[in-house]
Amino acid sequence: MNSFKKFKNLVPPIATLSSPHLLSIEGMPKTEIVSLLERADYFADIQISKIEKTLNGYVILNVFFENSTRTRVSFELAGRRLGAEVINISVNMSSIKKGESLLDTANTLSAMRPDVLIVRHPDSGAPKLFSEYLDCSIVNAGDGRHEHPTQALLDALTIKRRLGRIEGLKIAICGDISNSRVARSNIHLLTTLGAKVRCIAPPTLMPKDLSNLGVDCFDNLEEGIKNTNVVMLLRLQNERMSGTETPSKREYFHYYGLDNKKLGLADSQAVIMHPGPMNRGVEIASNLADDENRSLIKMQVQMGVAIRMAAIESLHNKKYAR
Ligand code: ASP
Repeated sequence: MNSFKKFKNLVPPIATLSSPHLLSIEGMPKTEIVSLLERADYFADIQISKIEKTLNGYVILNVFFENSTRTRVSFELAGRRLGAEVINISVNMSSIKKGESLLDTANTLSAMRPDVLIVRHPDSGAPKLFSEYLDCSIVNAGDGRHEHPTQALLDALTIKRRLGRIEGLKIAICGDISNSRVARSNIHLLTTLGAKVRCIAPPTLMPKDLSNLGVDCFDNLEEGIKNTNVVMLLRLQNERMSGTETPSKREYFHYYGLDNKKLGLADSQAVIMHPGPMNRGVEIASNLADDENRSLIKMQVQMGVAIRMAAIESLHNKKYAR
C-alpha cells in the first residue's frame, strides 16, 4: 500500500533541506523529513533508465572508517544512478586514532575537491567535525553510537509503503538500544512523524535518558511488543561493548530474541524489521527473518538506494561555489 497520494500524477520536487549537510535526524524539521520521503518514494518506483542525471559532473567520496556492506553500496548506487562520479576510499584506521590526524585526513580529502562526502566513523561527532573543516556537503553514514540518519529515513519509507502511514502506529525498537545509532535516529524520526515508540532492552542496554525523548521503555519483550504494528530488531553491537552487558547469546535469544510465539503478542498484521547485519538465532529466529508475509528486511535494503538518492540529490542544491 502506498500512501504518498499527493504526488499521484506529479513528480515530487527535489527535497529542500535547510542545512548543507545531513548529519542527524535530531532537529530536522518534519517538513524536510516528509519531502525526502516523498522524493524517495518516487525514486523507488521509477525505471532506472528514466532517472534524470541531476548529479552529472559531481564527485562523491564514500569514506568509510568502519565496515559496511549495505550502506556503502547503496550510496554508491544512488550516486551513480543520478550521474555522479562516486569514489570509494578505504581509510586505514591506525592513522586516525587521534583527533589531530582526523583533521589531517579531512584536509587530504578536501584537496580532492569532492562535492559530497559520505562518512562513516566509529566516533560520534566525526562527520560534524568534517563539516566544520571541509568545503563540501557531508552525509553521516553512521557515527559511533550517535546517529544513522539515512537508515531511519529508509526505515520510515519502508513502513509507510507497507502500512500506509506512520502517525499513530505503535512501533517497538528491541535490542541493544544503548549502543545503537539506528535506534537514536529512528526514535527522533518516528516520534516526529507521530508514531508511539517503545524501546525494549535488557536494563544493561537501555540508556537512562530515553523517556525525555517521548518513548516508553520496557525491559520485558513480551510486555513491550503487545499490540505493536512494527517490531524493529537491533543487532548486539559487540564492537561497542565492554563485555559484561549481555548474558550468553542463547540466554539473550530466550528473553529478547523474536520468535513466532512472542510475535503472536503483537498486532496480528505486525511487520518485522532489522537494519542488518542480523544474527539469526540471537535477535531474531531464522524462519521469521525469511517470512515474506511479516519480514520487511529485504524491502529495507531496496528502499536504502531510493532514500540515498533523495538525500544526496537534495544536497547538491547547496553545492558550495567553486
Ligand atoms: N548497519 C547498522 C549500523 O551501521 C546496524 C548495525 O551495524 O547493527 O549501525
